[in-house]
Amino acid sequence: MLLRIGLLLACLLSLALCAEDFYKLLGLNKDASERDIKKAYRTLSKKYHPDKNPNDKGAHDKFVAVAEAYECLIDEEQRRIYDQYGHEGLEQHKRGGGRPGQHHDPFDLFRSFFGGSGHFGHGGGERRGPNMEVRVAVPLRDFYNGRETEFTIEKQAICSTCEGTGSADGQVDTCNVCGGRGVRIQRQQLAPGLFQQVQTTCDACGGQGKKIKHACPVCHGSRVVREPETHELHVERGMPRGVRITYENEADESPDWVAGDLIVYLVESDPQLGTEEHEKTDGTFFRRRGKDLFWREVLSLREAWMGDWTRNITHLDGHIVQLSRKRGEVVQPNTVEVIEGQGMPIWYQELPEGAEEAYGALHVEYVVVLPDQMEKPMEKDFWSVWDKWRKKKGVDLLKDSGRPTPHDEL
Ligand SMILES: [Zn+2]
Ligand SMILES: [Zn+2]
Repeated sequence: MLLRIGLLLACLLSLALCAEDFYKLLGLNKDASERDIKKAYRTLSKKYHPDKNPNDKGAHDKFVAVAEAYECLIDEEQRRIYDQYGHEGLEQHKRGGGRPGQHHDPFDLFRSFFGGSGHFGHGGGERRGPNMEVRVAVPLRDFYNGRETEFTIEKQAICSTCEGTGSADGQVDTCNVCGGRGVRIQRQQLAPGLFQQVQTTCDACGGQGKKIKHACPVCHGSRVVREPETHELHVERGMPRGVRITYENEADESPDWVAGDLIVYLVESDPQLGTEEHEKTDGTFFRRRGKDLFWREVLSLREAWMGDWTRNITHLDGHIVQLSRKRGEVVQPNTVEVIEGQGMPIWYQELPEGAEEAYGALHVEYVVVLPDQMEKPMEKDFWSVWDKWRKKKGVDLLKDSGRPTPHDEL
């Protein structure tokens, strides 16, 4: 009797525990889409999975609660009732013969998302599917400014119509030929009195050990489908090219294994002027090497030689880097000016304590172009100026070098 009361109390308690708002529990708004709900479940069920939080009662309860919240919100009818009447309405509905939830075991639900037996593949002897690697290209602008974006990949997913059983009616029978083992042992007689045992894959069930009478109309009994899946991508400021980002258990799914990891390599896309105003910056064409940026600035002969010029370069976030020289300041061709603090933000895997935001340098290489066309009077003017000053105190590199003049050869 005492035990019964104890059990009853435990039940009531667990009811009270589960009474946290489903939307809040999944971190969703009331207008969350089916996709949002699925995504929230994927993220949170992995986070609170008991295999990842051994001996943590709190995490276990969360894991159960997240499954319950998911099953309610993903079901249109249950969600409507929940939205109108809350937890109590939902309980009443379930008791009153409403369609019971498809799952009762939160591990079953987890399995229908990530495959295997509903547990993680780490240790445990659980089979684990292969990892999947993809390259995602983002422009340099995103590496500089940081960005929340997303990408879509196509992958093998567990068929949600039949929840990975392959059966239209949920009916899966054990193969009567192999007894569910998927293999058959045959005795072959090699010679009188000499036998050999040979193990072969059961051809009646194709090694599955199971038979389905009515195949699922969506996956045709294969238990999996190919479908696109969109992931959020958080590009952090200054992340290096080729940085590896891991999405746990988001690779190809199969009921036969726990999904492996999806590994994303972040690469830089070719520079391209965007369509929006803030994307049309000089910075689009910066080249990056590690924490430094490189830019080539063109000067006319007059500017390089006489000075008195200004350039405004729009950086990747739109701020202006001003380059200038006063009159009389000469810039030799191919000079590189290093401007500290105008390079890439320096990225840390983990920010060291007390570290402040720091940047690399911007390297500006000056290219000087000489005029290849001159109006006749202008050419005359220049010529006479040169002539005048050359005679006075000009340097003659040929004469001063001590090398023979062309006339000496004759
Ligand atoms: Zn199916
Ligand atoms: Zn069989």
